Amino acid sequence: MAKITLDNLAHSYLPNPKSEDDYALKQLDHVWADGEAYALLGASGCGKSTLLNIISGLLEPSRGRILFDDHDVTHAATAERNIAQVFQFPVVYDTMTVRDNLAFPLRNRGADADYVARRVLQIAQMIGMEAELDRKARGLTADAKQKISLGRGMVREDVNALLFDEPLTVIDPHMKWELRTQLKSLHQEFGHTMIYVTHDQTEALTFADKVVVMHDGRVVQIGTPQELFERPAHTFVGYFIGSPGMNVIPAEVSGRMASVAGAQIDLGAAYAPGGGRVALGVRPEFVQLRSGGEGVPVRVTRVEDVGRHRVVRLDMDGQELSAIAGEGDPLPADADRAVFAPEGINVYVDEWRIAPEVAA
Ligand code: ADP
Ligand code: MG
Repeated sequence: MAKITLDNLAHSYLPNPKSEDDYALKQLDHVWADGEAYALLGASGCGKSTLLNIISGLLEPSRGRILFDDHDVTHAATAERNIAQVFQFPVVYDTMTVRDNLAFPLRNRGADADYVARRVLQIAQMIGMEAELDRKARGLTADAKQKISLGRGMVREDVNALLFDEPLTVIDPHMKWELRTQLKSLHQEFGHTMIYVTHDQTEALTFADKVVVMHDGRVVQIGTPQELFERPAHTFVGYFIGSPGMNVIPAEVSGRMASVAGAQIDLGAAYAPGGGRVALGVRPEFVQLRSGGEGVPVRVTRVEDVGRHRVVRLDMDGQELSAIAGEGDPLPADADRAVFAPEGINVYVDEWRIAPEVAA
């Protein structure tokens, strides 16, 4: 196991990158702590696979260094890095049996036969394929082949890190939860450094201790699920995580007060936004509906029942907002005001969160 340091990293697929836009991965400095489980979350095309392939050595970065502990591996081949990587689509040896596929990484490293037999059985149980160990991989479903790929990724106990690149894409929905749970218990048991790439927030939030959110070639926030929910560092994080995502509401802010659609809102703390586009970020969970009185004037356009709660869509002066009302909370019959709970308000300048001023 190892701590992985990315130092001044950047990558462009072009031979002569000129502007920032030419980089699939923009300037990145980050330490992946030894033994921690990370999820790398972001929309398709934001650079997740590029980053993972640089860590595993499939891709050499245009700029910067990669260290495993204090070892510079920037130019080291994948095999030397001692890493297990699982891809989106199955990579199996069709002519080999399931057992031999699973044993391959161990035999390749000269493990003794008894150990291989025991370990292969253990992994086969984890992926639910004990009954198929003697079948050839050829002829198995894509789903089963992907489970073999996952098993091969998990079979070695002595790797520096385990990298998963959207590994459950082709897996049956009901099996996804099961496999994710297995991966998590594998982490608890062996304490490998794990990086799990996904575009699915539920997957990221349930798997990882820390979630690394990427947007447009950049890491925009690294935090616990709770930090990402309560204090999104960038409006993208607020919007991408949560269902529905955070409301981003243009505002004028001066000290403790914000002005939105003609209404005054107490922010609960003072801010000094300076120049730039100022907006309030308020998650739907912190929007309460009232009838008359204080608050921002709104009109209810739709109420969606989503089981445990209701999502209320609002029109605020031409902008759509969302509010979440709990199962037991009655909606005021003529709701026409929205109130934002101060503890649920974040202030953004040019899409980045700014901290409140510290009281003197
Ligand atoms: P993700 O895994 O988050 O979907 P990728 O890392 O695959 O994103 O891609 C990031 C960006 O780099 C995308 O714009 C993609 O089109 C581009 N890209 C990925 N692989 C290559 C490649 N081999 N050659 C050129 N451009 C690539
Ligand atoms: Mg990818």
